[in-house]
Amino acid sequence: MIRQGIDLILPARCPVTGDIVDDDGMLSAAVWSGLAFISDPHCDTCGYPFDFDAGGDDQICAACHHETPAFDLARSAVRYNDTSRDIILRFKHADQMHLVNALTPWLVRAGQPLFARADYLVPVPLHYTRLVRRRYNQAAELAKALSCKNEIPVLLDGLLRTRATATQGVLSSSARHKNVAKAFAVNPRCQSQIRDKHIVLIDDVFTTGATISECARVLKKDGGAAGVSVLTVARVIKS
Ligand SMILES: [Zn+2]
Repeated sequence: MIRQGIDLILPARCPVTGDIVDDDGMLSAAVWSGLAFISDPHCDTCGYPFDFDAGGDDQICAACHHETPAFDLARSAVRYNDTSRDIILRFKHADQMHLVNALTPWLVRAGQPLFARADYLVPVPLHYTRLVRRRYNQAAELAKALSCKNEIPVLLDGLLRTRATATQGVLSSSARHKNVAKAFAVNPRCQSQIRDKHIVLIDDVFTTGATISECARVLKKDGGAAGVSVLTVARVIKS
């Protein structure tokens, strides 16, 4: 009764558009219609969506054919487009941390192929100078919320960022790889937990894969992880 009274005074609103919605944390129909969820067919390895089903058992994209990725599998929930970019930027920079409630169910769904063998979730770390500015690491917030849902434990500081890197946004693909080289290290305190284990790396956006590949490489080579998969909210798709 009291709840109904509050609802009448303060109706739940979509955190993106401000439209009135049925419940707190729900996204409006306008937002849903702008999202492009990634589904079959897609690359079996990196999850890159294909325009059509080529048939056959193994479907591998040209990039994964050309060079085996440092990670074993990658999956993303949605294509990076105007709508998902808006949500992620609000989540990342505008202190709209409650958007994690809208994003987590997407990760639960997209990450199903990765969870069966997973021992730990590990977020891609932010350098502390950026952490101070933003006050929270969006990847860590996603990993914590996901861990509550799928009960896979999270190693929040399993990876450390050993140096600040330039913002990747303006860099070419090869420059991105150079930019993140030697930028990450396995946390010595987590070494024994990571060795011989299967890790799911969590981040908000898979752009060229430079950051995520470097994290996977370090977890395997330096940390001795048995396997590393990648789960992100969005994936940049070249048109
Ligand atoms: Zn691929």
